[in-house]
Amino acid sequence: MISLVFGTIVTFCVELDGVKGDGNVITKKKQVVLWLVWLLIWPLSFWVIGQLWPVSIQGKGLDLVAFALLMSIVAFFPLIINNTPVFFVQGVSFAVFLYYGVLIEAMLTQIAILVLMAKIRVGKRDVYRIPLNMLMFLFISVFSASVYKALGGINGEIDFDNTQLFIPVLAYVTTVFLTNHVMLYLIKRFLYGDKTASFKRGIVLVWEFLTTLLIAPVGFTLYMMYVEFGLIAILFVGIPFVSISFVLKLYHTSEKINHYLQRTTELGHELTGQLKVNEVVDVFIKQVTDLFPVDYVFIYDIVENKKIRLVRFYDQAQQINRPPSYYVYKLEAISGMVWSKKQGVKYNSNKEWDQSVETSGSGFGESVVSLPVERDNEVVAVITLVSKKKRAFENYQYMILNIVINHFAVALKNAKNYEQTKSKSERDPLTKLYNFRYLEAYLEDYMKQMEKLEGETVPPVSIILLDIDHFKVVNDTYGHEAGNEILIDLADRLRRQIGNKGVVARYGGEEFVIFLPGIAQSECMQVAEAIRREIADTPFSIQQHILEQDTSIDLPITASIGVATYPDNCEDCVELVRHADRAMYVGAKQKGRNKVAQYK
Ligand code: GH3
Ligand code: MG
Ligand code: MG
Repeated sequence: MISLVFGTIVTFCVELDGVKGDGNVITKKKQVVLWLVWLLIWPLSFWVIGQLWPVSIQGKGLDLVAFALLMSIVAFFPLIINNTPVFFVQGVSFAVFLYYGVLIEAMLTQIAILVLMAKIRVGKRDVYRIPLNMLMFLFISVFSASVYKALGGINGEIDFDNTQLFIPVLAYVTTVFLTNHVMLYLIKRFLYGDKTASFKRGIVLVWEFLTTLLIAPVGFTLYMMYVEFGLIAILFVGIPFVSISFVLKLYHTSEKINHYLQRTTELGHELTGQLKVNEVVDVFIKQVTDLFPVDYVFIYDIVENKKIRLVRFYDQAQQINRPPSYYVYKLEAISGMVWSKKQGVKYNSNKEWDQSVETSGSGFGESVVSLPVERDNEVVAVITLVSKKKRAFENYQYMILNIVINHFAVALKNAKNYEQTKSKSERDPLTKLYNFRYLEAYLEDYMKQMEKLEGETVPPVSIILLDIDHFKVVNDTYGHEAGNEILIDLADRLRRQIGNKGVVARYGGEEFVIFLPGIAQSECMQVAEAIRREIADTPFSIQQHILEQDTSIDLPITASIGVATYPDNCEDCVELVRHADRAMYVGAKQKGRNKVAQYK
């Protein structure tokens, strides 16, 4: 029921140009044309109206100021419904029109629009909305007044005993309503180029129209009382009018907060449902940009004691979502301050913060909200939102953001834990290479992909198996620690040599497997030979040996290598490892070691 009443009252009002959020800005060329048209038409129109329908306002100066004030106050509490500001000025302007005619009504309406534009913080980017709305409302005023006059309507102290006069009044209200909607449609369709724009139809339009008719009596009452009592009538009607506007505004705000609070719970679930750190950050950015009017999002990770790293930067306008990765030091820039003081900040314009030190938002933002992300009393990240608009963030949004960030912190921690656990189960702790379990699963996956390529030529796959020669002797002579050093060094060398050509894994002990998709036998032999030579030619430096000397020792090491290729050597590439092992043993170890052998 409340929403019904709410909806009703909302439609008592005229709608502004209906620009959606921030993303929609018309082209520079259109803006220039708009200003020129305004410059040409606006003053001229008032002159013409003054000539056509002159009006005497002698002795009414104070009354007009009171009316202007009332309209401005009403305009100062606009409701933003679906990003469209709507306002109640129409009730008052209707009374003004009946009494003073179109010239005064149009003037006061224009003042009210200016107040409204100031209130909704039209910025540099969309300043063109001022002439746009001024022109639109000027047109509505003049066109509706013409219809009124054409149907025999008169202004001033009207004798409403003559019931025929209700026809032009009704026509006037209808025309204001329809003109407004037609113009809204035209602006969306042609100025903003929104091809999906449609004229409101059916029940919505009828409903809005009926409710518009309902406000006419309110304006009418104001008019009658004004005729009867003069200036004081503005107070009688004005005070409840302003109060209702104000209460509705409060109601609307609390509705919004409720809506936000409900959403944050859903968003929390969505966030904590993510497994990977990157996914958590992606979802978080999407949520934040959906919820708040942001142009830039900065997410910093605390990496060291002295500095934080920017791990993600999001630019709404250019749809950039990437990690530029730079550092901010403690107490440097807004984010650095927030981090070290563990205290969030909110700025309404760039006059409130020193742009020269904010590396993250230098010169391109006005409003900033920056908050620390805390876990167990420790700051684990810093989130900074920037908007190009002044006063973009409301206090309640700041509060909501705090809640979302708490969810983010939990999700981030879970994802980090998950990734750590996963990495532990996939990697060999000594060499940080993949373990054999991982490689096995990887091979199986790969085979499944290959089986899908039915009929097409299946690309070759090669496996290299490497076993260090006489490693036991190394251990026995220089100690287990030294052996480990060699394993780590060898792992690095293999990683470097293979790069992204394939996957290197530790098979176990001093044996390594290299998986090379898309590489045929001959090329694989070359890769294997290069590895063998590199190991044999460059001695391994060991520090933690058990010999009685302080300096490091350079140890010559060799390895035996077996190679097998699919589909040359087998029908199933899981068999490949066994074949490569066999080739290594028979073709390399038994033939004197430090050799590469291929499966036959
Ligand atoms: P070859 O392969 O040439 O026949 O001789 P080998 O001495 O390398 O052969 P074997 O397979 O018998 O010995 C492997 C040795 O590798 C046994 C073990 O001491 C050593 N080893 C296995 N894992 C590790 C490890 O993690 N660290 C160290 N330091 N040594 C290891
Ligand atoms: Mg071995
Ligand atoms: Mg060995």
